[in-house]
Amino acid sequence: MIIILKPHASKEEAQKLLQQIEQKGLKPLYMPGVERTVIGAIGDERVLQSLHLDSHPLVDQIKPILSSYKLVSRELYPIDTRVKVGRHAVGGETFTVIAGPCAVESQQQLDGIADYLTTHAVAGIRGGAYKPRSSPYSFQGLGEEGLKILKATSDRTGLPTISEVVDANDAPLMAQYVDCLQIGARNMQNFRLLEAVGKLDKPVLLKRGMSATIEELLLAAEYIVNAGNPNVILCERGIRTFETATRNTLDLNAVAYLKQKTHLPVLVDPSHGTGVRELVIPLARAAAAVGADGIIVETHTNPAEALSDGHQNLDPQQFDDLMSSLKPFVEAAGRRL
Ligand code: PEP
Ligand code: MN
Repeated sequence: MIIILKPHASKEEAQKLLQQIEQKGLKPLYMPGVERTVIGAIGDERVLQSLHLDSHPLVDQIKPILSSYKLVSRELYPIDTRVKVGRHAVGGETFTVIAGPCAVESQQQLDGIADYLTTHAVAGIRGGAYKPRSSPYSFQGLGEEGLKILKATSDRTGLPTISEVVDANDAPLMAQYVDCLQIGARNMQNFRLLEAVGKLDKPVLLKRGMSATIEELLLAAEYIVNAGNPNVILCERGIRTFETATRNTLDLNAVAYLKQKTHLPVLVDPSHGTGVRELVIPLARAAAAVGADGIIVETHTNPAEALSDGHQNLDPQQFDDLMSSLKPFVEAAGRRL
């Protein structure tokens, strides 16, 4: 519920109301504005009846938040949230490009990739140290060794790092090494994992589950924010449909819809979204055109030898082509690279 206070309501009076809301077991939110103070009450609104807010002398208007998700809703916070990953703000005027291999394979591999990424306007380097693979026989990632490699590359180049956390128990350890924690598609509804990253002071890149509705994605984000971490970046990475020509179907509807419904930044992953190297550039441009806040792309110095997802990785030349061909689309969408 959104409670808009009358212009003359003082900070102390607002605090009193917030306390009453908290005593009723709801989450109180204080949002002072230039002209009006707005208060949020998140939880079972029926228990607020005894406060008679509709006839309260300080209350101007009460509006219910109609969506099932509240904290991530634009109804509650109309202004775009910017999430800092290292020094870079995701969701600002700059179109964010995060790139890197599917998996961290060695120090030499990651350094080679980082060296060409730093010649471009890249906001961060990605790379999985813990890989959620469909087959138990596939490369599972280097674990903590991979985190150390990420940290060393970041220390040398200044690139912030993004890496996937697959187990709630690993989350605090990962937070010591990387700048942004990724929740993968397969874990989008691992609610204990969402709560674990919600307790950490690190931004979270939350990928949409391959069979998850947009509402489920937003409710997953709500878990993280409700646990105390407001720094969530959403990522559309393609969904499963009847189509088999591509690995997934990149749902660009979702991007436009999310930008209307939530204040959180939205990235697009055209690598997993298509699973086809040749389609990454066109879909990256489409992501910029539809209003995404950025992209996360897989790239490798030698995709043919990549230990995972090589077929959808761009090589350095293709990554150059991506960056130059993206520019006019980003600028047409009113942003810069
Ligand atoms: C990844 O980013 O390498 C990955 C496993 O992505 P997703 O969870 O979207 O499949
Ligand atoms: Mn991958």
